[in-house]
Amino acid sequence: MADFSDLMIHHPETAEFWQALEEGRFLIRFCADCEKAHWYPRAICPHCHSAHTEWREGSGEGNIYSYSVMRRAETPYTIAYVRLDEGPILMTNIVDSDLEAITVEHRVRLAWGHKVDGQTMPMFALS
Ligand SMILES: [Zn+2]
Repeated sequence: MADFSDLMIHHPETAEFWQALEEGRFLIRFCADCEKAHWYPRAICPHCHSAHTEWREGSGEGNIYSYSVMRRAETPYTIAYVRLDEGPILMTNIVDSDLEAITVEHRVRLAWGHKVDGQTMPMFALS
């Protein structure tokens, strides 16, 4: 599985993100000053250092930027970097998909219902 630890599950800056994910909403942190999205969610914009950041509903869609299939695992799985349509790139898993069909730039969408330790995780499936 991908390492989601950079999201700091119990960090106050990301609490709303995780809560929304449990409710079926995918939030992305945007900057109201430079209008850029960033990942992972932070209170201070990493592009322009503005404190005027806010949550917006993400499309949950993007493209595969790069990926690696872990074939030696008991159950092979894929770690990938997905570039969201809103701009940011996040590390994730490609699930509910034919591993042989995965290619760079393939369209993906958020796949709901995947949990790690009881927490819904933002994983993606081929579109
Ligand atoms: Zn900014």
